[in-house]
Amino acid sequence: MRFPNDEETLRLHGFAALRPGPRLLVLGGVHGDETCGTAAVERLRAELDGGRLALSAGELTLVPVANPLARRLGRREGERNLNRSFQPSARPADHEARLTNLLCPVLARHDVLLDLHSFQSAGAPFAMIGPRDNAGPLEPFARAVEEGRLAWHLGTDCVVEAWLDVYAARLARLGRADDAEALAFGWGTNEYMRSQGGYAVTLECGQHRDPQAPEVAYQAIRAALRLLGMADGPAPAPAHPRVLRLVDVTDRAAPGDRFVRAWASFDRVRAGETIALRADGTPVPAPCDGCIVFPNAEALPASEWFYFAIDSDRRLDA
Ligand SMILES: [Zn+2]
Repeated sequence: MRFPNDEETLRLHGFAALRPGPRLLVLGGVHGDETCGTAAVERLRAELDGGRLALSAGELTLVPVANPLARRLGRREGERNLNRSFQPSARPADHEARLTNLLCPVLARHDVLLDLHSFQSAGAPFAMIGPRDNAGPLEPFARAVEEGRLAWHLGTDCVVEAWLDVYAARLARLGRADDAEALAFGWGTNEYMRSQGGYAVTLECGQHRDPQAPEVAYQAIRAALRLLGMADGPAPAPAHPRVLRLVDVTDRAAPGDRFVRAWASFDRVRAGETIALRADGTPVPAPCDGCIVFPNAEALPASEWFYFAIDSDRRLDA
């Protein structure tokens, strides 16, 4: 059966050293308008192909453009956001579901995922990690130390934890805490990776058009390879990032919804401070002292407008 928009081809590049080691997967272009990961992956691939860089152990898979349709359209999404509801489906309903079915087994046969992104508003690069080790129902996990260690060595000033918690919080607020299907909407590549026994870090390399973002992405891959013992060279020095915990996400309801100023990620706000105004003028206040993450003034109605984070006591060097 043929579907519209399925003329795209997913490109994967695999490198395997004879010496066993970790299996690392690097994704670029999960969102079509985010090109830094693609540039970094292509640069690395050229170095490996040209013999200027050697894989000394393990296996490395590079995917320069994880959503080729979105890339061809020059948009964040093809038919929808590839980085939501990221789980295999028996009857894939759209382009991204079919792409997800193709990508899931690729993720599952790796140990570590480095997912390279960029963001819409101004701001410095940051890394995102998942939950702490736990056996709870939301996202059980046992590799938080390794995941935190990778994030700690990617060189950003800030690391953000607990992505899935905000979707659980939103559902709880709506009285739908037990709605497993709605919660599965919050699943991206990283959540799927963890569900398969691996671990994952998303690196947000800067603003979409920041000329430094491809370099940030490239240095992160090189740092990951050295940290994991997959390439020769000195181990990367750990940065000293502050750690924030995501606690909430607010959707944009209508095109008239607007921020009161051009927020950047990690701008601090006080409890009750007005962050935005709804189309009818109703203020949207900060729920507590904390900071704004991923403000997207161009968010489509009924999609994520901004996230809210507070200081975390998590240590990455544990
Ligand atoms: Zn992205």
